[in-house]
Amino acid sequence: MAPPHDDKAAAEVNDDSTPKRPISNVLFIIAMQTEASPLVNKFQLVEEPESVFPKGVPWVRYYGKYKDLNINIVCPGKDKILGVDSVGTVSASLLTYASIQALQPDLIINAGTAGGFKAKGASIGDVFLASDIAFHDRRIPIPVFDLYGVGSRQAFSTPNLAKELNLKVGKLSTGDSLDMCPQDEAAIVANDATVKDMEGAAIAYVAHLLEVPAIFLKAVTDIIDGDKPTAEEFLQNLAAVTAALDLAAAQVVDFINGKSCSEL
Ligand code: SAH
Repeated sequence: MAPPHDDKAAAEVNDDSTPKRPISNVLFIIAMQTEASPLVNKFQLVEEPESVFPKGVPWVRYYGKYKDLNINIVCPGKDKILGVDSVGTVSASLLTYASIQALQPDLIINAGTAGGFKAKGASIGDVFLASDIAFHDRRIPIPVFDLYGVGSRQAFSTPNLAKELNLKVGKLSTGDSLDMCPQDEAAIVANDATVKDMEGAAIAYVAHLLEVPAIFLKAVTDIIDGDKPTAEEFLQNLAAVTAALDLAAAQVVDFINGKSCSEL
């Protein structure tokens, strides 16, 4: 079933209550260390010595000032048992919740890599700004629970940002698998998605819950409807595409500096 357009979800953070004062605290949520490191360097951020997070969690926070902005980059860090990046919705939700509580951001930017559909206009290295975000692997075939499972939300609307930086705009679909089974594919088509990731809809859920504006920058590492195996293509393109993502993220920060959320 096609997700509803949750106008209410966007309206709650894109209405007259949107702060008119300049943005001061920006929170980047980035799933993988490889994606975050170049931005940490670009903004000359430092890893905080005293964690604002509970003792023992692997979550990492980098902090610093860039122009007029306080910038935080948080990553879910390495899985405590297996040592790989804690990708996926569970870590992303917890990290988003704890970061909002601790850091009180004015704006969240979820930056990361994604799979793209060439049939919907995506190419390797494209950076998309997501207009809508939904889940594709939460199937609950009971009336209304079906819509709850899809969990469609609109990103904070940033028409000026999209235009100024000439970013492609498309819908993002999120699930906890890197691959795509036929059921997920059908849901992704129903979500009308151009890009597919493993964190976006979870971050959108928490941001909406706590009423923090959130935007989603997704750089395409692999073409899902292409002929290369996803995992292989992802690893092959990760470094180059991360560079494109970080360039776009830096441009977004330059654009945001000195502006209020309602000017984005
Ligand atoms: N093999 C990788 C695992 C990364 S998982 C490694 O060596 O670390 C994929 C990460 O990239 C997730 O954070 C996800 O959001 C994003 N991603 C990139 N391409 C994706 C795709 N086709 N489907 C889902 N997520 C994708």
